[in-house]
Amino acid sequence: MSQDKHGTIKQALADLLGTENVSDDKAVLEAYTRDWLPPGVLEHFPPEFVALPGNTREIQSIYKLANRYKFHCIPVGSNLWSVATKATRPYTVLLDPKRLNHIVKIDEKNMYAIIEPYVSNAQVSAEAMKRGLVCGCPEAGGQASQLAGHTFQGFWGIGYRIGMGYRNILGFEWVLPNGELLKIGSLSQPNAGPSCGEGPGPDLRGMLRGYLGAMGGLGTVTRMAIKLHPWPGPKTFPCEGMVPNQKSVLPLKKFEWVLFKYPTLKDCVKVMYEIGKSEIGGNLEKWPTSYLCWWWAKSCEEYWETWKSGYFQKNMKNMVSICLWGFTSEKQLQYEKRVLEDII
Ligand SMILES: Cc1cc2nc3c(=O)[nH]c(=O)nc-3n(C[C@H](O)[C@H](O)[C@H](O)COP(=O)(O)OP(=O)(O)OC[C@H]3O[C@@H](n4cnc5c(N)ncnc54)[C@H](O)[C@@H]3O)c2cc1C
Repeated sequence: MSQDKHGTIKQALADLLGTENVSDDKAVLEAYTRDWLPPGVLEHFPPEFVALPGNTREIQSIYKLANRYKFHCIPVGSNLWSVATKATRPYTVLLDPKRLNHIVKIDEKNMYAIIEPYVSNAQVSAEAMKRGLVCGCPEAGGQASQLAGHTFQGFWGIGYRIGMGYRNILGFEWVLPNGELLKIGSLSQPNAGPSCGEGPGPDLRGMLRGYLGAMGGLGTVTRMAIKLHPWPGPKTFPCEGMVPNQKSVLPLKKFEWVLFKYPTLKDCVKVMYEIGKSEIGGNLEKWPTSYLCWWWAKSCEEYWETWKSGYFQKNMKNMVSICLWGFTSEKQLQYEKRVLEDII
């Protein structure tokens, strides 16, 4: 073993998953090593292997092998947040869930979905919207893993309305670092379903994540039940054109953005508290000026030119954005607009 640890681990993983689902190919490992930070910020350190488990049992077995042969496992979703998924120690195996890409269930009536790790934000959103429901999506985009978003950060635009990621976890199946399987919340009781993350049964969500996630250091979540919320918009998210000239127009009588600014950050905080107390709107955020540059610019060059000119930094500092959602009717939107104007 000590003579050829690499070979021993490779053989064990191949026996378990099949040779086609384990790779130590240099090009593949490089692909799992790139990240979005400027060169030199992170040390270049490829994993030893990338493994593609096909079910929960295989993930359990990988962790058991890891304990026997002393290697490290890092679960990834779509691996966009590569800062948190990169290998930092020798003999690291990245667990890529590409084969675990199913929405197991959507319960329209009780407003939840059960998902596997590689189900993307776009998949869950599309299925939820068809049913008049919505889920949180970070700015990472449609391709990122919905489960990893909940496990890791889950700070999303509609977090004001629906709560951040950790508030939307109803239960999960969790392969612990020793290979055992733990079910959390009401999922731990036979036939109780994922109705409640707090129980009956152990609520250990706080071990998986607090404000942020455990960054893959505490095993792998193989299935998660997430809460879905009412969506007053169309069944298919409208989208025209190609990036960067893409346009989405939501029904104007049901959705209205209001952007306004204040002289100080303190004023923004105060107004956001007041809006919260009134329980109006679907999105509420204080946009940093960089957002305005990102979303306005049609190219990297235009972004840098705008940023360097300082236009948004000078004119749009301390800006609050709210999108009013007519959940029940157009009248609700008009009512909420008047409430907002009073608060402003
Ligand atoms: C351009 C960009 C914009 C972003 N904007 C936002 C934003 O607005 N709000 C926000 O919250 N986040 C944002 N993020 C970060 C974001 O949270 C993640 O990129 C994304 O939501 C997580 O999904 P992923 O598929 O990228 O996960 P990965 O990068 O693959 O994983 C993220 C973390 O979760 C762990 N993990 C993944 N799967 C599992 C599992 N099955 N079990 C246990 N742990 C697991 C990983 O080990 C890692 O630590 C942004 C990222 C990018 C690249």
